Amino acid sequence: MSIITIDGPAGAGKSTVSKKLARRLGFTYLDTGAMYRAAAWFARSRGIDCRDPKTVSSMCHGLDLHFEGKHIYVNGKDVSHLIRTQEMDALSSAISRIPELREWLTRIQRKIGEHGNLVAEGRDMGTVVFPDADFKFFLVASAEERARRRKIQLDSSGEKVLYENILLQIKARDQADASRSVAPLRPAPDAEIIDTTGLDVDSVIEIMLARIEGKKVVD
Ligand code: C5P
Repeated sequence: MSIITIDGPAGAGKSTVSKKLARRLGFTYLDTGAMYRAAAWFARSRGIDCRDPKTVSSMCHGLDLHFEGKHIYVNGKDVSHLIRTQEMDALSSAISRIPELREWLTRIQRKIGEHGNLVAEGRDMGTVVFPDADFKFFLVASAEERARRRKIQLDSSGEKVLYENILLQIKARDQADASRSVAPLRPAPDAEIIDTTGLDVDSVIEIMLARIEGKKVVD
């Protein structure tokens, strides 16, 4: 019944690594960034200001947010692709500052965690949502490398954005995520920090597996 948390800034390689690690271990993968993105998408679709705590917190009451396999649904609509735009990068970061939304999503995330055998990816998995997780990792990489990776992702989804703009936005998002008063982006004291700059996915997975299997806690 292990829980593994993987936190870190945008573009540090969390998603690719978390998905692959979950597959290797036969664990469930939880993408909590997708939940903040889906909430931002819903707010945007209703003309709700993502910075307004009052309307955002009342929005949560009428919101059904759930995963089906790799897809995320908001009130029955599959938004999996719609949430991956540069606009949603910025809006999800803005909406994630609202404490009521964080509390609501934290409850849903812990509920999913009750089943155990989970790889949970985000910004506050090891610090707030699963402080007693069995293994905690915090991925970092240079802002330039992260912007390069994000450009490849956006290019492949057909969105043409200049590398320089992506780099600026990544730095702004890091700053916003790390400086907010609730659940700021930071490693848990007991997290293992892995710098993924210049490392491929498999090398990062090997580092994690060595740690996990070394402790022999995995079922
Ligand atoms: O990981 P991803 O880039 O999809 O996350 C989008 C945004 O959601 C982040 O910039 C961050 O502001 C927010 N987020 C968060 N806490 C999480 C996951 C994501 O605040 N656990």
